[in-house]
Amino acid sequence: MKTAHNIPVMMYHHVTEHGGFLDVSSRQFERQIRSLAENGYTALSAEQFEAFLRGEPMPRKSVLLTFDDGYLDNWVHAHPVLHRYGMKAILFAITGLIGNGPPRPHAGQGKPVPACPPHAQAKAQMFGDQPDDVMLRWSEVEAMVSAGTFEVHSHTHTHIRWDLQCASVEEKTERIHADLELSRRCLEERLGAASSHLCWPQGYFDDDYKRAARANGFHHLYTTDARGQNLPGGDPSHIYRFVVRDRSDRWLRNRVWLAVHPVLGPAYNEWKKSRKK
Ligand SMILES: [Zn+2]
Repeated sequence: MKTAHNIPVMMYHHVTEHGGFLDVSSRQFERQIRSLAENGYTALSAEQFEAFLRGEPMPRKSVLLTFDDGYLDNWVHAHPVLHRYGMKAILFAITGLIGNGPPRPHAGQGKPVPACPPHAQAKAQMFGDQPDDVMLRWSEVEAMVSAGTFEVHSHTHTHIRWDLQCASVEEKTERIHADLELSRRCLEERLGAASSHLCWPQGYFDDDYKRAARANGFHHLYTTDARGQNLPGGDPSHIYRFVVRDRSDRWLRNRVWLAVHPVLGPAYNEWKKSRKK
């Protein structure tokens, strides 16, 4: 078996009817996932990805699909597509925003599906009085976990940037600890287990955040830094991810090809870094 040199980790937020900023349209999402499946890509579990970072071999065409926050559209539009093509994704859920109540209809069931707003609107609503209108419910999460389309890991309990809210380092550290502890406990209570995988809100972290994460059993830390490759023996506390755009399956295949290329991948990342400077 040919094995993976490095594994691209893709970052999605929404799959909505129309697509947009941080939203992939359901039509493009279906094309992207179908194309990965038809081209022989394996979507790994968090545990398999963890094993890869430890040095265990994984199939050459391996990818990790991740979703941030835990939006209702993940159930309505992404879940049925992943199910159709036997692909799996990792959901980083803001555990404090997941609601209660029965599952709502998803696409493909022949029933009207709930409206799933684009990112800007969803973002305003998720921190408003009615997060349930745009966020997942535990019943939907459970259904996706049992279908094998999504695994659920922590994106903290509140998504609050404590570094911006607190006057002192002590207060900040205390708040981060409490937030992570609550998220872990919530996952354990609701789903029976919590993992060592954590995604930073807004991609922000510093040494205090990292220390708090480690103290709460989180060792696989997902960034929004796209400028590097996830290699065997690589640092599990700095996992690189790139954003998947509302683009074609061909764009995604090219992006993956570039991300994993042993020479052009790092060259592209260096070029991007130098342009940023
Ligand atoms: Zn987020």
